Amino acid sequence: MPAYDPNNIFARILRGEIPNRTVLETEHTLAFHDIMPKAPVHVLVIPKGAYVSYDDFAANAPDAEILDFTRAVARLTRELGVDLDNGQGYRAITNAGEHGVQEVPHFHLHILGGRNIGRMIDPA
Ligand code: 5GP
Repeated sequence: MPAYDPNNIFARILRGEIPNRTVLETEHTLAFHDIMPKAPVHVLVIPKGAYVSYDDFAANAPDAEILDFTRAVARLTRELGVDLDNGQGYRAITNAGEHGVQEVPHFHLHILGGRNIGRMIDPA
């Protein structure tokens, strides 16, 4: 696992050094609009703790942080109107490392919706 870079852009957002458009904040989790949205709904969900990737978070975060993050996603999809009770669905994506083409090395979940998002990946 690469060392966590405390100067990555999301760490700076968490420290309040860079503004963000917050959608939801809980004790351990922040959700905010992506700066370059790829869909009508494009929100990033991040843990407040320092984790590089989903596997880093899943392996190393305390249970309370994982529970908080997971429940925050459920609240968020409802509040964004993309959950399956009120809306028409969404895609959740997380990119990790070079092959995942991860730009920001702080674990984040993309929630994309508001239109049909298309096929999961382009066939190679
Ligand atoms: P990744 O490729 O790492 O999965 O996605 C990083 C995402 O972060 C991209 O969708 C990009 O548009 C978004 N992003 C990069 N810098 C900023 C920023 O300063 N603010 C916000 N809100 N999003 C950002």
